[in-house]
Amino acid sequence: MANSTVSYSDVGLRVGLEIHQQLKSRRKLFCYCKPELIKEEPDFTVIRYMRPTLGETGEIDPTMLKEFKKGRYVVYQVYKDKNCLYEIDEIPPHEVDRESLVTSIMIAKLFKMKIPDILVVSRKQYLDGSVPSGFQRTILVGLEGYLELSNGKKLGITHICLEEDAARKISEDAEKIVFRVDRLGIPLIEIGTKPDLNSPDEVLDAALRIGSLLRATRRVLRGLGTIRQDINVSISGGARVEIKGVQRPEWFKPLIDNEIKRQLKLIELSKVLKDRGVTDEIIREQEPVDVSDVFTDTKAKFIKKALKKGGIVLALRLPGFSNVLGEEILPGRRFGKEFAERVSVIVGLAGIIHTDELPAYGISDKEKQKLFEKTNSDPEKDAVVIVVGPKDKAYAALDEVKERAILALRGVPPETRKANPDGTTSFERPIGTAARLYPDTDSSHIRITADILEEAERKLPEYPWVREEKYIKELRLPPEIAMRIVMSERSELFEDIIKLGVNPKLVATVLIDLMTSLRREGYPIDDISDEKIYDLFKIFKQGKISKEAFPDIIAFLSKNSDKTVGDALRSLKVETISLNELEKIIDQIIERNLHLLKERGERAFKPLMGDVMRVVRGKVDGKIVSQTLQRKIAEKLAQIGKE
Ligand SMILES: [Zn+2]
Repeated sequence: MANSTVSYSDVGLRVGLEIHQQLKSRRKLFCYCKPELIKEEPDFTVIRYMRPTLGETGEIDPTMLKEFKKGRYVVYQVYKDKNCLYEIDEIPPHEVDRESLVTSIMIAKLFKMKIPDILVVSRKQYLDGSVPSGFQRTILVGLEGYLELSNGKKLGITHICLEEDAARKISEDAEKIVFRVDRLGIPLIEIGTKPDLNSPDEVLDAALRIGSLLRATRRVLRGLGTIRQDINVSISGGARVEIKGVQRPEWFKPLIDNEIKRQLKLIELSKVLKDRGVTDEIIREQEPVDVSDVFTDTKAKFIKKALKKGGIVLALRLPGFSNVLGEEILPGRRFGKEFAERVSVIVGLAGIIHTDELPAYGISDKEKQKLFEKTNSDPEKDAVVIVVGPKDKAYAALDEVKERAILALRGVPPETRKANPDGTTSFERPIGTAARLYPDTDSSHIRITADILEEAERKLPEYPWVREEKYIKELRLPPEIAMRIVMSERSELFEDIIKLGVNPKLVATVLIDLMTSLRREGYPIDDISDEKIYDLFKIFKQGKISKEAFPDIIAFLSKNSDKTVGDALRSLKVETISLNELEKIIDQIIERNLHLLKERGERAFKPLMGDVMRVVRGKVDGKIVSQTLQRKIAEKLAQIGKE
C-alpha cells in the first residue's frame, strides 16, 4: 500500500466479497415476462408513495426511516406488452423459474455448498423504491461452501441466494425517483464470502476466480451491468464498511488502500477527540442557533440568495472539534466532507460549512468570529458548522451533523459507501440491520427433487483452473496466456473456436492481445457478440480471409453492431484471393519493375514485396506472398539471364 510503513497484516485487514450476477434465462424469476432491458419509451407510469410500516419483526428499519425523511415519491415506467401485473406488485408471484433454479444449484455445487432439501422464499426489504412491493424475493440455495484461491487458501463462501433483480433507476431529483421495471425480476444470484481476504491481491484473485467459475456454467449474462461487485473492508479497531459498485478489477487495490487510510485516520481522530474530553452527552446537548443575522451584509452570494428565498443560516457548536473537520482523511478529502455527504444524502441539502475552512466562499473572517460568539464557542477549542437552506431542512441537517459527530467519537461508523472511479468512496447510507429478511407469505416452499439435483450435476462445467492446466499441457499455451484466457470474459468462446480446428495460440492471441490493444485504441470491442467472433474464425478456417485481416474486421464489427462478418468482408474488401490471382498480381508488378530487377537482381525482392503487399494485404498470408514472389523473381531472373 502507499503508506509503506504499514503492512496489511499489521493493520489486520479483512475483506469480504459480495457478488451479484444476472443469470441467462428464458423468463423472469417469478413471472413469465422476457428478462430483457427495453430501450423504447414506456407505455405508462405508476406512482407510489413510500411509508414506513412495522415489519413482521416489529422493528422499523433505520434505512427505511432515512428514505422516508427525504419525502420523495416513486415513479415506475411500465410497458403494456412486455410487463405483467407482477412487476407492479398487483398479483402474487408465479412458480419460480426452473432453469434459474438449476443454475443456482450448479453454482452452489461448484462451491461445494450444502443445499437444503426444501428452499424457502424470503422477502428482503428494499426501501429505496427499487422494488414496487418494498421487498425483493430471495431464496437461500446454498450455504457453507468454499473456493480455493490460487495460493491454496480456502475462502469461505457463506451463502448463495437466487433472487430477483430490482428495477432500474432512470433518474432522481429532490422530488421523485424514476425506475423502469424492465430489469425487475431478472434472475440474479448473490454470492457472499467470509471476510477472510487479507490483501488486495487475494481479493482480486477471488473475484477473478468467482467470475470465471460463473461464466464457465455458460448460464450467466455478460457485459456491462450484468455483474455487480461489492466489498466489505475492516481493520483492527475499525468497522465493517461496505463499498458498493466496484466496476473494474483494477479498482480493488486503490479502494482498499484508501479505505485502510480512511479508517486509520478516523480512529486517530476519535482518540484526539476523546483526549480533549469530548463525550456523547456534550455533543448531544448542543442546540442549533439561527445565525442568519450574521450574514445580513454578506459577500457570500449563495447565502445571500438563500436568505432572499426565505431560508436561514443555522449553526451548531461542536465542542472540542477545532481543527478536526479540516483534517485530510484522504488526499483532497477533508473529514468535513463526510459530514457534508451524509447531510446531502439523507436530508437532500447540499453541503455544510465549518469554521476550520473559513474564511472562504465569500464568508469573511469577521463573520467567522461572529459565528463563534453567537454559539458561545471557544475559537481555540471548538468548531462551528453552518448549513444554509429552508428552515426544516436546516434543522434536519444539523441533526445529522450531530449524529455524525457522535459517531466520530467511536472512530469508524459501519456504513455503506459508493465506489468512485478515482479510488475514493462516498457515503451512501448507514449499514442496514439483519431485520430485513422475513418469509414470503405468497410463496410455497420449493422441494429440491433428485431430478433437479441430477440435472445440475450433469451440467456442471470443469473448473477453469483445471482447464488452465490442460491448456498448458495439451495445447502448449504459455502459462501466462493460459491463465489470461481462462480468466477472460471470452474463455468459453475460446473453447468453442478451438473445436473448429483453429490454432489455439492464434485464437488466444486474437482474443487476448488483439482485443486488448483495440480496446486501448478506443474500439468498443466488448460490444461484439461471441457469435460474430465465432463466425469470423469459421470463415478464417475456410480460408476466405487471412489472419492479417483480423484487426480491421474486428475494429469494423465493434463500430457497426448491426453488421455481420459477411458485411465486414464486403465493406473492407479483405476476402482472400486465390494463388492464381496472386501470381497474376505479382507478374504485373514484376513487369512494371523490370529495370529494377535487372539492376538489383534478387535484392529487388524487398521493394517489390512492399508493392505486392500494398495490393494484397489482409487477403492472403504474408508468408505465401513472400514465397510466391521469391519464386517468381527467380523465374524471371533465369529468363532474363537466358535472353
Ligand atoms: Zn411479468
